[in-house]
Amino acid sequence: MTITRFAPSPTGFLHVGNLRTALINYLVAKKDNGEFILRLDDTDPVRSKPIYVDQIKRDLEWLGLEWDRVETQSSRIDRYNEAALDLKKQDKLYQAFETSVELELKRKKQLSMGLPPVYDRSALKITTEKLKTREGTQTGYWRFLLNLSRTEWQDGILSLISIDTKSVSDPVLIRKDGQFLYTLASVVDDIDMKITHVVRGADHVTNTATQIQIMEALGKVAPSFSHHSLLTGPGGEALSKRLGTLALKDLKLAGIEPMAILSHLSKIGTSNTTDLQTSISDLIQDFDLTKFGSSPTKFDIKDLTPLTAKYLKTLSYEDIKKDLDLFGVEKKIQKTFWSIAKENINCKSDIEDWWRICSKGPTPIISEADKEFVALAIKMLPVEPFDENTWSSWTKEVRNKTDRSGKNLYLPLRKALTGKEYGPDMSTFMPLLKSIQ
Ligand code: GLU
Repeated sequence: MTITRFAPSPTGFLHVGNLRTALINYLVAKKDNGEFILRLDDTDPVRSKPIYVDQIKRDLEWLGLEWDRVETQSSRIDRYNEAALDLKKQDKLYQAFETSVELELKRKKQLSMGLPPVYDRSALKITTEKLKTREGTQTGYWRFLLNLSRTEWQDGILSLISIDTKSVSDPVLIRKDGQFLYTLASVVDDIDMKITHVVRGADHVTNTATQIQIMEALGKVAPSFSHHSLLTGPGGEALSKRLGTLALKDLKLAGIEPMAILSHLSKIGTSNTTDLQTSISDLIQDFDLTKFGSSPTKFDIKDLTPLTAKYLKTLSYEDIKKDLDLFGVEKKIQKTFWSIAKENINCKSDIEDWWRICSKGPTPIISEADKEFVALAIKMLPVEPFDENTWSSWTKEVRNKTDRSGKNLYLPLRKALTGKEYGPDMSTFMPLLKSIQ
């Protein structure tokens, strides 16, 4: 069975970048009727916070990306200890003591000599005696001894990847304070949870090489790896720093609909054009991992607005009834109101705006040049209630009384009655207008 996982660290809110990873993993699993695990990479006790865990779950629920089960790394420390012990027995984990300042100095030296800044393994060169004394006075951290060879895999998106691990530093797997780092924890989890496909950002490519080696050292076969390109801003600029402003909870507040986000994120970076899908099952059916490309993917938040508007247009009265109740739209006119409103809104909260216009009257836009004309026209309005003929009979009379016609006649009246430049067909709209005060 296909099993995937989405593995956020609960040290911040979900944003469009990590949601894209979540979505692709979800779709890979569900395309194959498989399992999708939400794995919380919470080994950092200081930065991981329950508030982030809650919000991650709420965001995924809001989007409709249901997980089959939740796993937390903080509850699996025993397993990481076992794996570390196994690696130590094989002399695949070694203790190092250099401070970050010492390492930085080494790096600078290597760079100035034109050498790649790879850890020089001096920790392996100290004598057993010296090591003993060091262990007595200092706590070290633990590095994984990489096989200095080429590590290769057939990437689900990037095709054949071959990494020369000579250019990679032996990764630290256990910190001085005993905290297991993601590189080891993730490998142990992927093995134990029988993950078949790992899809993550291209920034993890080097990690993958080291993780494949750790898996092999633990006697296991690596899952299939795929690395999607990273998102950039609309002009190709790096998005990483701005991702904080693209948090899902903020998109929700801005009125962006889940299906708009999911439709867009499932297609950007692929050879398919992005278009609206109205259900998750359609997304699953349409999904194809092999369509993803390797070049950076442009993301523009502006693209989500037309997709949201398009999605809202697809909603039937039954679908939106609850929201109309919530906004206080009068029951007996709800159906007609929705048939008009849905064509003229960008997000759900615009419903409130239209209902206010209908029930309480517009905030008219009247230019200086139109003042007299509009005042005269309003005086000529018949008494409410209005019906479908009100607009045509009224504007006919106004045209006869004034020298205005065409746009000069209709636009100022539309702006006066709706407070907007564009909007619904005025004949159908007039019966919904309770008052023009
Ligand atoms: N917690 C890791 C991250 O958010 C997970 C990476 C992975 O999918 O292995 O980058």
